Amino acid sequence: MSDTATTPSTVTFDQFGLHADILKAIAEQGYTTPTPIQAKAIPVVLGGRDVMGAAQTGTGKTAGFSLPIIQRLLPLANTSASPARHPVRALILTPTRELADQVAANVQSYAKHTALRSAVVFGGVDMNPQSAELRRGVEILIATPGRLLDHVQQKTANLGQVQMLVLDEADRMLDMGFLPDLQRILNLLPSERQTLLFSATFSPEIKKLASTYLRNPQTIEVARSNSTATNVTQIVFEVAEGDKTGAVVQLIRERSLKQVIVFCNSKIGASRLARQLERDGVVATAIHGDRTQSERMQALDAFKRGEIEALVATDVAARGLDIAELPAVINFDLPFNAEDYVHRIGRTGRAGASGDALSLFSPNERKQLADIEKLIKRPLEVQRLAVDTPVRHHHDERGSRRDRDDRGSRRRTTGAHERPSHGAHHRQQPIDDFFLKPYEPSPSAVSASAKREEAPAAPQKPASKQPLAALLGGFGMPRKTTSST
Ligand code: AMP
Repeated sequence: MSDTATTPSTVTFDQFGLHADILKAIAEQGYTTPTPIQAKAIPVVLGGRDVMGAAQTGTGKTAGFSLPIIQRLLPLANTSASPARHPVRALILTPTRELADQVAANVQSYAKHTALRSAVVFGGVDMNPQSAELRRGVEILIATPGRLLDHVQQKTANLGQVQMLVLDEADRMLDMGFLPDLQRILNLLPSERQTLLFSATFSPEIKKLASTYLRNPQTIEVARSNSTATNVTQIVFEVAEGDKTGAVVQLIRERSLKQVIVFCNSKIGASRLARQLERDGVVATAIHGDRTQSERMQALDAFKRGEIEALVATDVAARGLDIAELPAVINFDLPFNAEDYVHRIGRTGRAGASGDALSLFSPNERKQLADIEKLIKRPLEVQRLAVDTPVRHHHDERGSRRDRDDRGSRRRTTGAHERPSHGAHHRQQPIDDFFLKPYEPSPSAVSASAKREEAPAAPQKPASKQPLAALLGGFGMPRKTTSST
């Protein structure tokens, strides 16, 4: 195990025996050397073994699994117009729409010189174009679980010929309450298949999932689980809660940050902060579960083009985002789920670049800070930040009404975080039973899927670990070969 997740290795892409069409695409991407996860994963996946990959975001894991998948499917690539000649052979499941879209874009570019077809399906958008694409036939399907089940239900997706399965950001999928959907999907797949599970963190639940659905997997680790990238400088600034907006403006200005993701714990908090930053002259926009998929995509594109300085995001909206050379992330709020800290700061310092993770810490966030330090197994440097331009009205607003969104369902897996100990804004809200139930096709697949993919946006109370543990207890079943739908 190495701590240098993104240190270039001495291996070259040529050494893997990848097809010239793939090597050409890799060169066009500008990749010269495989990242460590690629150096380790590509030969193992090519060899047909199951993989349990402990890879953080930004390590190049997408290419680590996509390139060998493309290579293994190449003998089956064909230009026939018949859909029957293009069954789904590789399925890549991701927790969020944005990650699905991003993985799909990568797969598309790596496979562009081959005859293999790929498609992406996720909720919150019209199903019809997805259905049409699926009907034409695709070999590589990237999907979020809820929408995939909608397509299975509508018989636009058939998973009976899947040979390779990837569970990407598996920890997120469990945290977001996708376990019942995952189990249902896994039971639709042939038992003879190769399964690759990638996760930034390895909770006991993830290990249980792996031990049930993976066969003799090769464990590949490029960074200690729950560790944070070594090339990210982490600083915690202690500020009064009411000075946080001013602190964000100050950090952006003092450090000349042209592009920064600012994380908030709630959707309302994110919207409000974006508005306040705009008032203070920072070009900002918010992305969160209440914004439509196209609004989120537009905001993201504008941010990537450099038209927006601060993208204010909730955890779910920012999951898996890959922004090339993002110099910094700012935690406006410390996350309630310590693992979110690892995911958040993984937005910067990607693929070996350096980055700053700046966290604002107010005295009522001691527990969150302690949880983060426990998870990453080291103390964080806390500095006092003298804020020049405190924005007092923000504090008043936050004190009276602070909604929570994205963390709700995730907190089901983190018992230690389920009983915040202070402050009216930490009050618990009831969990929606919807998220504890297995998949049930709805009359309107579009809206149902949209809801599921937005699961954490709904009002919820943190539930105990029990339901999840119980579900995992049901893992003892053997793989089934037939579809239940
Ligand atoms: P990922 O962890 O898969 O999201 O990848 C993070 C970023 O690293 C993406 O922007 C990739 O395009 C980029 N990347 C992946 N592999 C390489 C490589 N071998 N060399 C340079 N950049 C890479």
